[in-house]
Amino acid sequence: MRVLITEDNGELAEFIQEALSQEGYLSDIARSAGELKLFLKEASYAAIILDLGLPDVDGIDVLKGLRRDKNMVPVLILTARGGVQDRIKGLNHGADDYLIKPFAIDELIARLRALLRRPNSLSNTLLESGNVKLDVIAKAITVNNNNIVMGRTEIAVLEAFMRNEGLTVSKESLENMIYQDGYSLTDNALQVAVHRVRKKLADAHSTLEITTIRGIGYLLK
Ligand code: CA
Repeated sequence: MRVLITEDNGELAEFIQEALSQEGYLSDIARSAGELKLFLKEASYAAIILDLGLPDVDGIDVLKGLRRDKNMVPVLILTARGGVQDRIKGLNHGADDYLIKPFAIDELIARLRALLRRPNSLSNTLLESGNVKLDVIAKAITVNNNNIVMGRTEIAVLEAFMRNEGLTVSKESLENMIYQDGYSLTDNALQVAVHRVRKKLADAHSTLEITTIRGIGYLLK
């Protein structure tokens, strides 16, 4: 399993590389967005660690470019920008996780391991979290093997949550994910849909819970 470290601070990049190698992960170091592009042409990576402050292109634009090209490789952002708005921006543009500098190397390894373990990646159409299963193609949902009926928007909301289990999903990000499904929603309609999904899961004795994180969004756990 190979990881691409994108970081222009050479010392930090090598420190991360050394820690990854102790965990048994191979890695390459790209020191700019340009180098990252070259590496991606040569090899495929299980995950990318992406510094936002790169010398040539802003990391957020690098991330946008990857997702525009339908490259769904898990991306963990590293940045000194720790504001809530910056975090939301990163997650909105398709980052899978976010770590603020300075960070503990053990936390980076733990988060990376969690990313690599996540089963509900974007290419998967049969999602499973706790006792909930969602067949994205057939639009079929079961909780404890009992069928649950949900409307189209509710299914889109559930899918967005299941693909991001354990991660905070901002309202904006949720709106974007659902919009990509072909239609947009008002803020209120979105809240109603989240409420319905939460209630239907609870009524069916789901082991999953949608928690509201005030001012940020939601968390499925
Ligand atoms: Ca930097």
